[in-house]
Amino acid sequence: MKYAIRAARVFDGAREIGSPLVVIEDGRIAALQDTADLPVVDLGDVTLLPGLVDSHVHLGFDPFGVAVEQLPNDAEDVMLARMRANAAEALRAGITTVRDLGDRSYLSLQVRDAGPEVLVSGPPVTTTGGHCWFLGGEADGLDGIRKAVTERVERGVDVVKIMATGGSITPGSSPFDQQYTTEELRAAVEIAHAAGIPVTVHAHGASGIKAAVEAGVDSIEHAFFLAPGGLAVDWDTVDLMVRKGIYVSTTTARMPTAEPAFPVSTQLRRNFGRMRELGVRLVCSSDAGVGQFKRFGSLPHGIIEFGELLGFGNDEALASATSVAATMCGLGERKGRIAPGYDADLLAVAGNPLADLKALLDVRAVFRAGERR
Ligand SMILES: [Zn+2]
Repeated sequence: MKYAIRAARVFDGAREIGSPLVVIEDGRIAALQDTADLPVVDLGDVTLLPGLVDSHVHLGFDPFGVAVEQLPNDAEDVMLARMRANAAEALRAGITTVRDLGDRSYLSLQVRDAGPEVLVSGPPVTTTGGHCWFLGGEADGLDGIRKAVTERVERGVDVVKIMATGGSITPGSSPFDQQYTTEELRAAVEIAHAAGIPVTVHAHGASGIKAAVEAGVDSIEHAFFLAPGGLAVDWDTVDLMVRKGIYVSTTTARMPTAEPAFPVSTQLRRNFGRMRELGVRLVCSSDAGVGQFKRFGSLPHGIIEFGELLGFGNDEALASATSVAATMCGLGERKGRIAPGYDADLLAVAGNPLADLKALLDVRAVFRAGERR
């Protein structure tokens, strides 16, 4: 079916482009034009945006549960039902693409059609007993990591996720500690890139971030530069990140709470603001599932925070979770923009988020592959 959408304003993923009719055909955007002899869905005083892209979620996690207990023990049908419910929650918030960066048994491959388009990493590659070992992705040494990445490529993943440092939700694991050497990470990158798949790493501490940047990964999740007692950014590593065009997925989005996101959140915001000034490509993402404030509709709150606290212009904040996020995920030709040829994944919000990002919270319509959901 061919039809057109009319909105008072259109943000194309980078800038506001007035109010063209957006012509939809076969799940894609066919054209932007002033008039059309077609059925028109008039959405009124809304802004039409590309559907949001949350590049870091865990569909299998229960925000109110304990991952280390639930993930290894829950029956497969329980897991799949939770994944579908979480995906539906994301879609309601206008998130039309999610990238799952850690499941069990590659279950995300079974929920690709759960609402948003789901990109899959499968179980994150981690050391024996390392961060999120309970997801089943343990691999050690050069041979181990090569085998693990090859397995993921054969399974048909969209991205390879590696735990470059420990993490805080895994007992016995420390976020400061590096888990893999530069050489091991480089071996993973070579195999993944040969298959056309990006590599992203979980990294909190400076040495793990440095190893990943040296290895040439595509993006760093978190990149907080956590150190005992606070944050200690290695600006030389940040400089290398800029030169190599490596993205940082901040995982800062969360539901509003009086509690700071981290014990050092003011410093964290200042650091991310400085990284942005230096030219690091920051993507707003959520890490949805890993705690009670990490709900599956968290992303819009993170975009608001990018504008209010990180010094982003409102257009730039919106781009960080649409066009920039899509490009980081390898979907830059298909998602994150309102332009001919792109998937008709669209979000309409009341008012104008370019004037006030809080408008993102008033969702009026969500379209996925041209269908109103
Ligand atoms: Zn995560």
